[in-house]
Amino acid sequence: MTKKLELKDHNTLFKDQKYIDQAENKKIFETACSTEEVEKIKDYTKTEEYKEKNFARTDLVINPAKACQPLGAVLAGLGFEKTLPFVQGSQGCVSYFRSHFARHFREPVPTVSSSMTEDGAVFGGMRNLIDGLENCTKMYKPEMVAVSTTCMAEVIGDDLQAFIGNARSEGVISEDFPVPFAHTPSFVGSHLTGYDSMLKAILSNLSEKATIDKEVKTEKINIIHGFDTYTGNFSEMKRILDLFGADYTYLCDYSENLDSPADGEYKYYYGGTKLDEVPKAAQAQGTLSLQKYSTKKTMKYIEKKWKQSVSVSSTPIGITKTDELVKTISEMTGLPIPEELKLERGRIVDAMTDSHTYVHGKRVAMAGDPDLLLGLISFCLEVGIEPVHIVCTNGDKKFLEEAETLLASSPYGLDAKVYIGKDLWHLRSLLFTDPVDFVIGSTHMKFNAKDADIPLVRIGFPIFDRHHMHRYPIIGYQGTLNVLTLIVNTLLDNMDKDADGFNYDVVR
Ligand code: SF4
Repeated sequence: MTKKLELKDHNTLFKDQKYIDQAENKKIFETACSTEEVEKIKDYTKTEEYKEKNFARTDLVINPAKACQPLGAVLAGLGFEKTLPFVQGSQGCVSYFRSHFARHFREPVPTVSSSMTEDGAVFGGMRNLIDGLENCTKMYKPEMVAVSTTCMAEVIGDDLQAFIGNARSEGVISEDFPVPFAHTPSFVGSHLTGYDSMLKAILSNLSEKATIDKEVKTEKINIIHGFDTYTGNFSEMKRILDLFGADYTYLCDYSENLDSPADGEYKYYYGGTKLDEVPKAAQAQGTLSLQKYSTKKTMKYIEKKWKQSVSVSSTPIGITKTDELVKTISEMTGLPIPEELKLERGRIVDAMTDSHTYVHGKRVAMAGDPDLLLGLISFCLEVGIEPVHIVCTNGDKKFLEEAETLLASSPYGLDAKVYIGKDLWHLRSLLFTDPVDFVIGSTHMKFNAKDADIPLVRIGFPIFDRHHMHRYPIIGYQGTLNVLTLIVNTLLDNMDKDADGFNYDVVR
């Protein structure tokens, strides 16, 4: 008889006595504080006095709600057909980008690094870049390589333009092989800056070489999602545009690359904006961006160089923001708003009415990217949820102003305070000194939620500890329904957890 294979996951494995002993011995070896001391400090971190000290901190960041620049640049590269993101720098950084995306999307992420080590840091990384370009173009046969940099390459001042020029002179790549590049130093900005810089670099590289008359305009419009980690948002937006019957081009569409089918054959590249579509996109009527804070440079470029009307919004979550989106599409295309969308809108308003008794008046804290937060705030105010603490590590003064104006437009926003440049450890303090009913954020927020013993609604990036959430849209009317469902059911789960007797009801 074959023995049943017993595999323990880490939840059960580390409850084995040998691991418990090991942890205890480790404490002795490290002369760790006593459990009582740890608990005492833990309690102190929940006080008003600690919060003051926490907010006075200037030279240390703890759990920022942002990622680094080249991570954003990699995502932008993945949005184009047969494009290989290439990061000039050390392998460790690139492993972080790949693993972050792989854990969130549960897909392999083809991205290469020039593997710079100590000698590169001392003598410069030109050889790494040239050899890297030669290797990756031979091995993975891309049609474009999108080069970004890590901190190391930026600190030593690697000059990408000169290095890529030298690679062409050495015959490693041909003169016309597209190698757009962006300097993406992570000691400034965030993943949004990197995404924006790389997208602009790709669009300018591909459109400026082409002999196309940008003054001649077609009926098409261009769509850019920004740093959007919901593949479901792409399908939803395409469905909306198809309902309109609009003629459109997606610029930077990684939704297939990061949601490829398991059909027995692994391909490096799936989908993406076709490279020859980019010069033609310069002839479109206009370009619509769904994230203003992650496409600043790109949209400025499009407006100036492609001479197009541009429209920028923030993540369209909720009725108001989706109405604005639908109206914008109608104005840009000259097409009427489809009846089906009007019906859909009505259904979502109905669903909001159904659920409002359980969400109305609930206090929430949230953290994330600026455009996502603006969408979430707008949605919360519509259903009577009261945003209280809003942390945007990568938000700027413009975002602060916009968020405050939005919050001031509703009585539900009056208790809110927006914090830019603050991190999740700041937010943790706020959860104890001014408690809320639930939090919205990425997986990184789960520690705060557990400490404060309140539920977490996972929306944002990254989401590592729940499956498939990125496949469900959070934008448009349908996405709004998903956000509402997620929030109300999380609150109901929590209510059931705490309910007993007749309060543990079958009808909610
Ligand atoms: S912050 Fe700099 S060193 Fe750290 S992973 Fe990003 S690029 Fe690498």
